[in-house]
Amino acid sequence: METMNPWEAALEFLDEAAELISLDPGIHAILRKPKRSLEVAVPVKMDSGEITVFSGYRVHHDVTRGPAKGGIRYHPHVSLDETKALAMWMTWKCAVVNIPYGGAKGGVIVDPKQLSTRELERMTRRYASEILPLIGPEKDIPAPDVNTDEQVMAWIMDTYSMNIGYSVPGVVTGKPRSIGGSHGRGGATSRGVMYQVLSALKTRGLGVDEISVSVQGFGKVGSGAARMLHDEGCRIQAVSDVMGGIYNERGLDPEAVEVHKREAGTVAGFAGGDPITNEELMELEVDVLVPAALEGVINESNADQINARIIVEGANGPTTPKADRMLNERDVFIVPDILANAGGVTVSYFEWVQDIQAYFWTGDEVNQKLRQIMEGSFLDVFGLSQTKGWTMRQAATALAVERVAEAQRVRGLYP
Ligand code: GLU
Repeated sequence: METMNPWEAALEFLDEAAELISLDPGIHAILRKPKRSLEVAVPVKMDSGEITVFSGYRVHHDVTRGPAKGGIRYHPHVSLDETKALAMWMTWKCAVVNIPYGGAKGGVIVDPKQLSTRELERMTRRYASEILPLIGPEKDIPAPDVNTDEQVMAWIMDTYSMNIGYSVPGVVTGKPRSIGGSHGRGGATSRGVMYQVLSALKTRGLGVDEISVSVQGFGKVGSGAARMLHDEGCRIQAVSDVMGGIYNERGLDPEAVEVHKREAGTVAGFAGGDPITNEELMELEVDVLVPAALEGVINESNADQINARIIVEGANGPTTPKADRMLNERDVFIVPDILANAGGVTVSYFEWVQDIQAYFWTGDEVNQKLRQIMEGSFLDVFGLSQTKGWTMRQAATALAVERVAEAQRVRGLYP
């Protein structure tokens, strides 16, 4: 499989948008580099008594529109280039849904499944201490990403607070509600994906009850999106995870699949469907394909075999630039990552606002405000794509880059 460096992919999408909006070359040059990248060594005493030194990163791509915002990922494939790309995508994501943040991302090169809970806590706390100079509710607010969750956020919040000397809930989002988390943050990315699917269907004149969906990656984002789309009336035809996939032409019950996955550790082997490989899933003839795992899964080696009419990118960077062009030639309607999965950071923003005000909203309020932002942003991007004859990705990136560039222009260049 073609492996594309995500940073090169991110730059290529930026360059394309810059050309479309005739971006000032100076501002373009600024945006092509992350503002700051921190690489840290994370020594951890393992349960055996031995010391293992992990490598971690925290990157701020741009903070012109507000504090840096973005998740922390634990994965063996984390790299500085991947973290830079994900940070840049966070800048565009926050700008496209118009929330007042810049973009950041962090990560540790680790397979957390190989660590005990105690080791994971020690690693998280040491990593948090090492990136402490960068983070803070007014500076940089981490959140969950691949393989990190509420518990990891609670440890980071505690580590930061113990160092500062008082409790600072607003230093992270996606934390448990008992320490200032928000209603609706857990399922927010999935809910946002669901709203984007519904908006995309509307533009194609398709009803929810007549469409089939396949979801690649049945993790936090994918499983929630499958469940919510199923509840809306869509037929979930196939889902997969790293160990394999399942297919049922008449539709799967995502809740039953979740129960199976909790017991078996994978969706594979679920009794209500036939086995299918990840590759086969990507090529199914469905109305909507939701890639919801990692970068680069739609690339030049499989783009021509993709038979979905609509792709809604739950993952960050699932489509390489070349694959993007191949799909555009075939008129596949792609709702790009920076719009499709912005529900998570949108509710992160709500959580941070609630923390700062120490005044908390109901779940209904959160979901209603999320819906408003996701539907409004879809229409902004769709409208621009129609007027200019751009793809949804070009329109979303151009809109975001223009918002950041405008902030840069009015602030001016220091000194
Ligand atoms: N990790 C999520 C993303 O990629 C959420 C980031 C956040 O809430 O700050 O969008």
